[in-house]
Amino acid sequence: MPHRFFSNGFVATTFASLCIAFVPSAYGQNSAGPQPVPLPPPIPAPVDAPYAGTISLSVDLTNVNARVLSVRETIPVKPGELMLLYPQWLPGTHSPSNPIGDLAGLVIKANGKGVPWVRDRVNMWAFHIDVPKGVTTLELEFQYLAPVKPQQGRISNKIADLTWNSVLLYPAGYFARRIQFASELRLPGGWKFATSLDVKSQNGNLVQFKDTSLHTLIDSPLYAGINYKRADLSTGPDNPVYLDVFADQPEQLEITPEELQYHKNLVIQAQKLFNSRHYDHYDFLLSLSDTVGGKGLEHHQSSEDGTRANYFTDWAAGVAGRALLPHEYTHSWNGKFRRPADLWTANFNVPMQNDLLWVYEGLTNYYGNVLTARSGMRTPDEARDVIAQIAANFETSPGRTWRSLVDTTNQPIVSSHGTLPQNWPSWQRSFDYYPESDLIWLDADTKIRELSNSQKSLDDFAKLFFGMNNGSYVTATYTFEDLVKALTTVQSYDWTEFFRTLVYQVNPQVPENGITRGGYRLVYNDTEPEWMKHMDKSRSTSFATSLGFTVKGEGNADDGDNPGAAGTITGVSWDSPAFKAGMTPEMQLEAVNDQAFSISSLRQAILAAEKNNAPIKLLLKRDKEFITLTVDYHAGLRYPHLERVESIPDRLDAILAAVE
Ligand SMILES: [Zn+2]
Repeated sequence: MPHRFFSNGFVATTFASLCIAFVPSAYGQNSAGPQPVPLPPPIPAPVDAPYAGTISLSVDLTNVNARVLSVRETIPVKPGELMLLYPQWLPGTHSPSNPIGDLAGLVIKANGKGVPWVRDRVNMWAFHIDVPKGVTTLELEFQYLAPVKPQQGRISNKIADLTWNSVLLYPAGYFARRIQFASELRLPGGWKFATSLDVKSQNGNLVQFKDTSLHTLIDSPLYAGINYKRADLSTGPDNPVYLDVFADQPEQLEITPEELQYHKNLVIQAQKLFNSRHYDHYDFLLSLSDTVGGKGLEHHQSSEDGTRANYFTDWAAGVAGRALLPHEYTHSWNGKFRRPADLWTANFNVPMQNDLLWVYEGLTNYYGNVLTARSGMRTPDEARDVIAQIAANFETSPGRTWRSLVDTTNQPIVSSHGTLPQNWPSWQRSFDYYPESDLIWLDADTKIRELSNSQKSLDDFAKLFFGMNNGSYVTATYTFEDLVKALTTVQSYDWTEFFRTLVYQVNPQVPENGITRGGYRLVYNDTEPEWMKHMDKSRSTSFATSLGFTVKGEGNADDGDNPGAAGTITGVSWDSPAFKAGMTPEMQLEAVNDQAFSISSLRQAILAAEKNNAPIKLLLKRDKEFITLTVDYHAGLRYPHLERVESIPDRLDAILAAVE
């Protein structure tokens, strides 16, 4: 590797080694020296007992222009020590990432007089208050300062995603389900809203909600905005499901009858898969925007969904992201109703343990992709291409040679919910427990079908495991052993060993048995799938399976979700031809074989190199330096596809077909 690639990091490394060299040699092993100060007592463990009184919460959303939400909160208290908590661990994010730094202006009063607060010295989400004698309520005022960029904060002048965990403090020491809240929200004039919360009253732009527990409040976010449309997806009066759409522009709310039917099919097919529901009513909260960032966050009776503004108006462009709603809806069963025992916590400041996320998220990804196909949101061809892409991506990701899949379930915490960028995700591994679990659960599904002579499938497991207590939305937790037991009930097999090998051990082999047993093989050729040609031009174009990098194209650059100008190298696969030639992320691709860079000039160069021995010449720029790389690569574009193997039953097609 050329030395210059490390020129930036070299200075930092030098300073770090100075510190290591001097400090231990001077003070290292001597017994004389400081002794540790005891840490403050931990946050009190929550108990399953009612918190006395109801907390009043009033949120003012009228200053959306500044993204400043003003909060007033009245908390019934007793004199003495009190600890108030800002939620730290949010369900669905699997990480302690609720940004406490965005809370400001905290003033606490009792009977009109100020009451001082002191932040805990260890846990930044905890505040100590000494409640004076004779005081029975505390009045709090503070602001939640949402990020001004709507890509980050999901609040614009037209759409707002209100997460209650951003706008409240609650008393430590109690289960979240035992603390009652009476909440109200003041909306900007003319704005509409949608939420799974039950409304008590509405007076102009002031909405009051029925009293609810802290648990349900935080699980019931609210979308609001200027341009709003509600579509009914219910399968009947016993299964009310709604699509609540907020958009930048009114015309983006236009839904064709065909698109509406796909979404209704999703609800129908989910019912057939799970044969149950675990909500009173369900609301898909969907923002369609080119400024408000994308999102997918599950809740019991709703989901926060956000995607590109042309979701309905350019349906063909969205094949890649089409599983968003099916994934989040599946979570109502898998993740919210059934939850790994160590991922369920009594309140929002108890750490979560993520080791079963390959079920919570991984199986949701699998069922989500299956339901996307069964509902018609993706054609069978498109659904197979997505599986091919997942497998191909792992074939170029050598991180699996050192890191087990189960270790990647720690990634939400390691990466602070994905906010810390990774330079080499194909080596570091990232949120692999989502896509790799697609392959593992496909393996399990086809195994059940093979062993049972197609009499049983993972659909039977869905009904057994997620269909229990139909109608209930009280979370039922499970362990690895419970999972194995339910699978064994459906089909006898050594499931413990199956998952031990694929999930818990370092497993360099890409788990492609499900593709093979599904009646297909993974192949590569120069044919780009038709749907990929319609993808958003702002996305990076992947050459990961050929030269080994992704690059921003010429279209609509720098839209926040996909930052970087045309030619920006957004990723380089470890050990790929480009990596070996010296390419790194954040370089700028200027020219290909002495022609100005464009996606098509790069494609042409790869196709031409298939037919001759000349290396591909790339001119790149990093900071002020121009770098010429030659890549000796002649294997073509290598688009992954699944090719039918006639000698094996087409189990994959059976999985992807709508259930009648
Ligand atoms: Zn998920």
